[in-house]
Amino acid sequence: MSAFLTGPDATAARAPLWSLWAARWLSAPSPSFADEESDMTETLTAAVPATEDLFRADAYAVTTTATVLAVSAGEVGVEIILDRTLFYPMGGGQPGDTGVILAPDGTECVITDTRKGIQPGTIAHRAASAGTLAPGQTVTLRLDWPRRHKLMRMHTCLHLLSAVIPAGVTGGQVGEDKGRLDFDIGELVLDRDAIEAQLNALIAADHPVGQRAITDAELDANPGLVKTMSVQPPRGAGIVRLIEIPGVDLQPCGGTHVARTGEIGPVRIEKIENKGKRNRRVVLAFAEG
Ligand SMILES: [Zn+2]
Repeated sequence: MSAFLTGPDATAARAPLWSLWAARWLSAPSPSFADEESDMTETLTAAVPATEDLFRADAYAVTTTATVLAVSAGEVGVEIILDRTLFYPMGGGQPGDTGVILAPDGTECVITDTRKGIQPGTIAHRAASAGTLAPGQTVTLRLDWPRRHKLMRMHTCLHLLSAVIPAGVTGGQVGEDKGRLDFDIGELVLDRDAIEAQLNALIAADHPVGQRAITDAELDANPGLVKTMSVQPPRGAGIVRLIEIPGVDLQPCGGTHVARTGEIGPVRIEKIENKGKRNRRVVLAFAEG
């Protein structure tokens, strides 16, 4: 099928390295100071529940209302925790969202980045200043949609790239204009023009991009399903969110994606960098900006 790929490793099973993309969703919350015994952190934990992440159910939502739960000093400026958000927190190679939070008095708080909060399950919106925002207020969120949409297009395109090149993925990064995946290609020889053509064919075919959740029990009952995944989901993680491009790719992932591959638009391979004997970095860019 992949005629441009040659070498003894061409059919080797890919390493389960796409877990990089899915770390947020697949692993238990990492230990933080909140796990340590301390009256203060226990109080904070009780006061700030996990943030409801609306972007998981609907990556196309650009505005919503929410309640401010906490405003605190952050690494840079302030961090604002809400009861729910449509801002994606940096993770899995995808940058954190930007946009504005509109305060009740009409002033805008510009969100420059979004990160996972220090308390498990929380999402922290970063700003230079909180302005008039205060806990208890009902506010309106507005996502920087043009930027997020580019990130969704590029992120989804990297799923396609991972399907086109049957090699282990060792890293990746999604950008607004460019994206890259690093592959452990073994003895494979990558044909840039052929990969680019196959990628654009998958985009032009306008495949639907779906998601579904699956439990360990369902995985156990469907061994064939696991076999078709480009990354094996870890057992014992409870429910795993899978991103499926039927007939093309299936893998666990927690990022945001476009609904159909046609939405990505034409792309070009900007370069294939040699990162060592077995490693290649494939850098993509949108052909039309
Ligand atoms: Zn993804």
